[in-house]
Amino acid sequence: MKLVLGHLYPDLMNLYGDRGNFIALQKRCEWRGIDVDLRRVTVGDDVNFADFDIVFVGGGQDREQEIVWSDLGRHRDDLARAVEDDVVVLAVCGGYQLLGHYYLTPGGRKIAGLGILDLHTESHSSRLVGNVVCRSEYLPAPGTLVGFENHGGRTHLGPGVAPLARMVKGHGNNGRDGTEGAVYRNVFGTYLHGSLLPKNPHFADVLIARALQRHHPGAELEPLGDALEWRAHRAAAALAGVRG
Ligand code: GLN
Repeated sequence: MKLVLGHLYPDLMNLYGDRGNFIALQKRCEWRGIDVDLRRVTVGDDVNFADFDIVFVGGGQDREQEIVWSDLGRHRDDLARAVEDDVVVLAVCGGYQLLGHYYLTPGGRKIAGLGILDLHTESHSSRLVGNVVCRSEYLPAPGTLVGFENHGGRTHLGPGVAPLARMVKGHGNNGRDGTEGAVYRNVFGTYLHGSLLPKNPHFADVLIARALQRHHPGAELEPLGDALEWRAHRAAAALAGVRG
């Protein structure tokens, strides 16, 4: 079996080592004997999202975000078609915000998003920062997701998306409604840095399994020895003051 993994703007959107998510997806495939074709996309590149099985975009500061947003806007329709064809997407923080309808900067400027996820983000000068534990119905037991958040954006979900998780400890999408992230088809947006997947191996495997299903229905993922990953998961939960 083979998967094509696309990393969007790795040179610009790599806040808090978010590229660790792409590495985790690559290694968890390779450790299982799944061939991977790694593709990196940056400003000015041509891309055909139909070629990808999993697309990853990390977080970034407002400045890098605006550079990326204007470039990726060129590919909006192609990415939207791939999303409707159930390509798997993981978007973290700034990359997540980009998939919504718009991002309102702290100065009140509205930056158009791709409109792929039914949500919008309004950024405040005060930031939502800290260690996070949340619980997701998209994950097998224990269902917890752990990570770190640092964002000025407050993201508000519309009826066209479901929350990825419900907060146990931390702020999440907006610090008010108890939600974290968003899900639409196989698109998963989240505020969790960390990087996220190395210490949430069950989430990494959900993404890989969903990608495999598109061309290999019924494909099973053999379990990996994740003792270290779960130690990291529990340590991150403890940092948030939650027994993992
Ligand atoms: N610049 C965005 C915000 O502050 C995203 C930050 C990030 O990617 N961590 O909300």
